[in-house]
Amino acid sequence: MAEGVVRTVLGDVPAASLGMTLIHEHLHMDCSTLAAAHGYVPDPDPGEFDLAAATECRWNPGAHPDNYRFTQHDPVLDDLVDYRELGGGAIVDATPFDLDRNPAALARLSRESGLHVVMGSGYYLEATHRAFLPAGDEESATYDAIVADHVLGSDGIHPGMIGEIGTSDPPTEGELRVVRGAARASLDTGLPLSIHLHPWGDNADRVLSAVDETGLGIETVLLNHMTTAVGEDERLRGLLRTGVQLSFDLFGFDHSLLGPGRWPPSDDEGVATIAALQREGFGPQVMMSQDVGVRTRLRQYGGWGYGHMLRHLVPLLGAHGVTSEGIRQLFVENPANFLALRQGVAPSTSPTHR
Ligand SMILES: [Zn+2]
Repeated sequence: MAEGVVRTVLGDVPAASLGMTLIHEHLHMDCSTLAAAHGYVPDPDPGEFDLAAATECRWNPGAHPDNYRFTQHDPVLDDLVDYRELGGGAIVDATPFDLDRNPAALARLSRESGLHVVMGSGYYLEATHRAFLPAGDEESATYDAIVADHVLGSDGIHPGMIGEIGTSDPPTEGELRVVRGAARASLDTGLPLSIHLHPWGDNADRVLSAVDETGLGIETVLLNHMTTAVGEDERLRGLLRTGVQLSFDLFGFDHSLLGPGRWPPSDDEGVATIAALQREGFGPQVMMSQDVGVRTRLRQYGGWGYGHMLRHLVPLLGAHGVTSEGIRQLFVENPANFLALRQGVAPSTSPTHR
């Protein structure tokens, strides 16, 4: 049973009370500034975002700019309620500042859905963080911004995680400075650190050595988007032997990923890999999620929503031999252990600090 507390947007709760948790999702995000960096060309005259537009966006997610404007309350709430009704207990919004993180929207979604929601903090890729961070001083600016977010919060809403922190392929020097600033902030606040790796790159060693330079233990860190390494058995096991935690969070990805026509491995291949890693004893370091963050992933636009994990993938895990204890480890114990706050500076609730 996980110990300690987890910081949700509605306050601290015992880690053991989270229940089924999706460790890397988005509930409110605007990535429209990233379409070009993702290799997509938006239609200059796109019209309404309807089902036909959503269909085209499965091949080319940037074809309609609204697909990347993941800021609608009602369809997200509907899918959160669906996830809760299937047995979901908690969900992590991994949206950083520079992708329009919205604390008030997350608190409202948490109240209305009945789910525990954990909010992220920090900065994404250089393509989006450059507008916020001075070139050369990214490390101290990132550290200061995350610690201020932790201490002061936003209308009483505090982050429960740092991340997703963005790194490109290869990581830029500025991004590695952001990683170091985020790792130092993790050391001093006790917030866990979640890092985005470019899904088609192989940069984990470089990113982890930047973390290691700060003194933060890499066994506390979660590396994201490992689904694209499914099939690279030695690479995955080499990483796991370092002690780092891996997030296989591209399940249910029914659209191309960073380039038209390029898809992550199938859900069945991903589940088979998770089952194998558990059999080999790596279970405590592995988590699964869906990284829902464009409109086409929502049921209103023909997607499977956040409920996909419980409705479809948990049974698929069972078919691959994962036991109910294994399911509990993946979705309850590991997320609770990762999110439980380590000792750090407590956030202030004093009005004089607001
Ligand atoms: Zn990411």
